[in-house]
Amino acid sequence: MTRHPLGVHASIAGGIEKAFPRAEQIGCTALQIFTRNASRWQSKPLDPVKVAAFREAMLKSPITQVFVHDSYLINLATPDDDKWQKSKAAFGDELRRCSQLGVQGLVMHPGAHLDTGEETGLQRIAAAFKEILAEAPENVQILLETTAGMGSHLGWRFEQLARIIDLVPQHDFGICFDTCHVFAAGYDFSTAEGYSAVMAEFEHIVGCEKIRLFHINDSKKPCGSRVDLHEHAGLGQIGASGFACLMRDHRFTAVAKILETPQGDEHEYDLRNLALLRQLAGETT
Ligand code: MN
Ligand code: MN
Ligand code: ZN
Repeated sequence: MTRHPLGVHASIAGGIEKAFPRAEQIGCTALQIFTRNASRWQSKPLDPVKVAAFREAMLKSPITQVFVHDSYLINLATPDDDKWQKSKAAFGDELRRCSQLGVQGLVMHPGAHLDTGEETGLQRIAAAFKEILAEAPENVQILLETTAGMGSHLGWRFEQLARIIDLVPQHDFGICFDTCHVFAAGYDFSTAEGYSAVMAEFEHIVGCEKIRLFHINDSKKPCGSRVDLHEHAGLGQIGASGFACLMRDHRFTAVAKILETPQGDEHEYDLRNLALLRQLAGETT
C-alpha cells in the first residue's frame, strides 16, 4: 500500500543535519526546515562540512521529500525600495542554499502589497522573480504558498497565484497548499461537497497538478475570517471530515503533507496528528 509522505517542520538547532534524526524518530517520511534564522536578515553562509553531513543524512533517511521554508522577512511585493532589494537578495540566497543542500522545493509567501493595491503588488512580485531567476540555480522549484489574506498579503485568492504564474513564464512554479490559510481565506472544504467544489475551483484556476506540498493545519478561526491561526488537525473549524477528504483524494497520495502545529512535550501532538492523518488515509499504523 502506498504510504503518504507525511512529516513536520523540524528544528535545525545544533546543526542543519540534525533535523533528520528529529523527524525520523517520530516516523516522518517528509520534512520541512528553515536553513537560517527566519526572522533575521543576516545569515552566515552554509558550512560545507554541515552541507556534506546534511546530504549524507538525507541519502540514508527514510524521509523521501525535503522542503525549505524561506525567511518571514522577505516581501517581494513591498513598495519600499530598500526592503525590496533586501528581499530579492535574501530570496536569491534561499534558492542557492537549497541548491547547495540538494533540496528541490522552496516554500515562500508571495508578499504583502502594503496598500499599493493587488495588481501593483502582483506586478512587483513578478518583477522581483524575473530578476532573481536570471541569476538563480535552476534545480530548485519555488512553491508559492497559499495565504490566509491577513492585512495586504497576496496569494489568498487562487486567481492571485495563477496571475503570478502567468506573469513569470520562465519558471515552473509549484504550489504549497496550506489548509488553514485556504480555509481562513474563504474556501470552505470542511464537508465532502465543499471539498469537491474547492478542489474543482483550484483545478480550474491554477491546476491541481501544481500542488507539490500540503501544510496540514486546522484553523482556529472561521472560514472567511482571513486570520491565520493554526489548530491541530481535526480539532479546529475544518475538522476531521475536511482532512479525511484530502487524505483520501488519490490525486494527492504522493504529495507530501507537513504539520505546522506545536509539537507538544515529547512530540506528543505531532505523534497524535500523524497517526490521525494515517488513519484518515486508511493506512494502518
Ligand atoms: Mn508559510
Ligand atoms: Mn503554512
Ligand atoms: Zn499559517
